[in-house]
Amino acid sequence: MQLYTHKIPTTTITKNNLLLVIFLGLLSCNHKKTDKEDPNTYTSNKAEIINLDFDTINKANSFDYPVGKPNAKGYYNAQNFTENNHLSEDWNAIEGGNSDLGAPIYSIANGYVSFAENVNGGWGNIIRIIHYIDKNNQVESLYAHCTKINVKKGNYIEKGEKIGTIGNNSGQYLAHLHFEIRNKVGLPIGKGYSTSTKGYLNPTDFIKMNR
Ligand SMILES: [Zn+2]
Repeated sequence: MQLYTHKIPTTTITKNNLLLVIFLGLLSCNHKKTDKEDPNTYTSNKAEIINLDFDTINKANSFDYPVGKPNAKGYYNAQNFTENNHLSEDWNAIEGGNSDLGAPIYSIANGYVSFAENVNGGWGNIIRIIHYIDKNNQVESLYAHCTKINVKKGNYIEKGEKIGTIGNNSGQYLAHLHFEIRNKVGLPIGKGYSTSTKGYLNPTDFIKMNR
């Protein structure tokens, strides 16, 4: 077995490079992890093919919040829809930090799991669910950065069913749920941020109107 040892370089700390070390330390404090994503690392063009069986799927008659079931109790939205061109809401436990790591995520309504996998990059584990309101009216919910995915593509699920757990995308962020609602089903995963909101809805507004 090969053992790797890590040699620590010995340096003489002069007054000048001590100041430099302090300066760099202060700089790195400004780059602390936050619960916001970096749009530059945050893109996927992964698309999907959906064959919905309209006779089988349970209609989505009403919608709840995806955390703190059913009313988001104990959670707050740290980044609104359209804030910084954000196409979603970032749901966090009110205790902050990683306190919500591993907390349950619930399907906001009856629906069909159209996608459940890790796409890496800034996204990590993603779950997408199609909610059938009627033949001319379907919306899709998307849940990102999950620690665990508890559903599979093709599953029919009910409102309030646990579908996964809140994550931090392998330590890339502080734990939070990036949560989108789209009124156009099957779009590419995209970037999570855009100046155009075409195909996307304000999640809280939509839920409030459809309780
Ligand atoms: Zn987000």
